[in-house]
Amino acid sequence: MFMDAEGNKTVGFCLWCNRDFYSMDEVQTHNADDMAACPSFQELKGQQGMPPVLQAMFEDAGLLDDTRPADEK
Ligand SMILES: [Zn+2]
Repeated sequence: MFMDAEGNKTVGFCLWCNRDFYSMDEVQTHNADDMAACPSFQELKGQQGMPPVLQAMFEDAGLLDDTRPADEK
């Protein structure tokens, strides 16, 4: 369904740190204890509402155009 940079199959990735997961066990370990294993989430939680990867997707889709200065469009 997903692939990492080397073309290996993954079950998904972390929206916060963009880490690739190769099994659901890995996902659960990463998300356990308020995502204690995710450095990006620990750094960014409480500061903004949106994971950086998701924000980049929205920007790519043009959904966040209004939040950027006109000269960056
Ligand atoms: Zn993460």
